[in-house]
Amino acid sequence: MAATTHRCICGATLRFRQDLRKEQQGIYPTWKCKDCGTPVPGKIAEKLRHQHPS
Ligand SMILES: [Zn+2]
Repeated sequence: MAATTHRCICGATLRFRQDLRKEQQGIYPTWKCKDCGTPVPGKIAEKLRHQHPS
């Protein structure tokens, strides 16, 4: 099973739940790069949220 990674525009590689910052605005949370705050596309964030370092 291949792990999803997301290369942020700031250069950070996002792999795990803890690489994201949750921002609750209204009903739906948005997920952002924890380093720079750039929003991560929802479908990618969804996958990253379920990945944890072993
Ligand atoms: Zn970033």
